Amino acid sequence: MSEYFDVVIVGGGMVGGALAALLGQAGKRVAVLETALATELEPNSPYELRVSALSRASEHILRKVKVWEGIVKRRSAPYESMVVWDSTGSGEIRFDAADLGETDLGHIIENRVIQLALQERLLELDAVKVFSPVQFKNASYTDKGLSVELSTGQILETALLVGADGAKSAVRDWAAIDIKVTDYAQQGLVCVVQTELPHQWTAWQRFMPTGPLAFLPLPDPQCCSIVWTLPADQADAYVLQAESLFKQHLAQALDYRLGQVLSVSERAAFPLKGRHAAQYCAERVVLVGDAAHTIHPLAGQGVNLGLKDVAELAEQLLQDSQHWASFKVLRRYERARKADNALTLHSMEGFSLLFGNNMPVWQLLRNQGLSLVNQMSWVKGQLARHALGVG
Ligand SMILES: Cc1cc2nc3c(=O)[nH]c(=O)nc-3n(C[C@H](O)[C@H](O)[C@H](O)COP(=O)(O)OP(=O)(O)OC[C@H]3O[C@@H](n4cnc5c(N)ncnc54)[C@H](O)[C@@H]3O)c2cc1C
Repeated sequence: MSEYFDVVIVGGGMVGGALAALLGQAGKRVAVLETALATELEPNSPYELRVSALSRASEHILRKVKVWEGIVKRRSAPYESMVVWDSTGSGEIRFDAADLGETDLGHIIENRVIQLALQERLLELDAVKVFSPVQFKNASYTDKGLSVELSTGQILETALLVGADGAKSAVRDWAAIDIKVTDYAQQGLVCVVQTELPHQWTAWQRFMPTGPLAFLPLPDPQCCSIVWTLPADQADAYVLQAESLFKQHLAQALDYRLGQVLSVSERAAFPLKGRHAAQYCAERVVLVGDAAHTIHPLAGQGVNLGLKDVAELAEQLLQDSQHWASFKVLRRYERARKADNALTLHSMEGFSLLFGNNMPVWQLLRNQGLSLVNQMSWVKGQLARHALGVG
């Protein structure tokens, strides 16, 4: 006998895990299919390469599903300020939480820590069952909904299939939903560094013609996670470069704001592509997070958008439970989220073009623009509130 679930979520990452918790704590029977669960951190284990800058809006969602405590008890770094400047001039903008009457502008958290806290919460929810290690294999429509086939051969019956399975979503492919892909011909180089000077609980971002470089504060006051956007061949070269040389390049690229780079972890580079699904839903199928959209990481908004997706989807589904999984409800979610995601996607592409342009007129505009906004406290406040996810 196959088991029945109100929803089968493919992907137990940050986005799928949060959706499972939202629906599970509302009493819906949820199955989560996950290829590989995160394993618990050892005491003093090195920082993970993949981190997320979570906004206040994301914090609220994670508090609602009771996973924030699980994050804080492991490790996270609140950041109180953000400094953005241009490498080709003197333009600079600085945001401070204190100016907004806030304690911080967000938190830098290792992706694995978010996943661990979510997994812990899902175990507490009787309505949620996690299947792992397992993969989504196939699905077929039935009279009452869908039969979902797992790589183990198990069959689950459900009313709704959710693709929370990331950028290369198998659910999206199965549902034959088109996706527009823009190759930025760039890679995001990530690593963890120890710096000579403390990071001052500040997120540092310098825009260079080749792409932005971000130093994001970690719980240790002299450790940062870096995301460096580079042309693909340059990123590959930096990954392989001798450590001493790479440390010099990195310190110089950040204008020595944190002094020398004292140590550097292993390095990895991810190809950067913008993706946006033509639809977020089909009959009894819906996409959330990276399965629906991936954006340029320069503003660190990927997970934040995914969490906004799941908050909206859960609200639409739960407030119209009688029509659970109806196309009308799924379309409501799509309408509510697609425009916001498209706007963020295109804004990030625009920023990337503006800051990657070497023509003197653009350099002047950038520098004067940054300095001008820095002096306009109201505009600056609005920008900061938007980044915080409360504006
Ligand atoms: C270099 C870089 C830096 C970034 N920095 C930031 C940042 O600072 N802030 C931010 O908000 N975002 C950032 N992002 C984006 C962020 O990492 C993604 O938006 C986020 O991981 C999306 O979460 P997700 O749960 O939708 O997908 P994923 O994290 O990809 O999770 C998908 C899950 O589904 C599972 N899965 C996949 N296929 C199957 C299958 N067939 N069956 C079962 N399970 C499956 C996977 O194992 C995985 O656990 C960055 C991205 C890059 C490339």
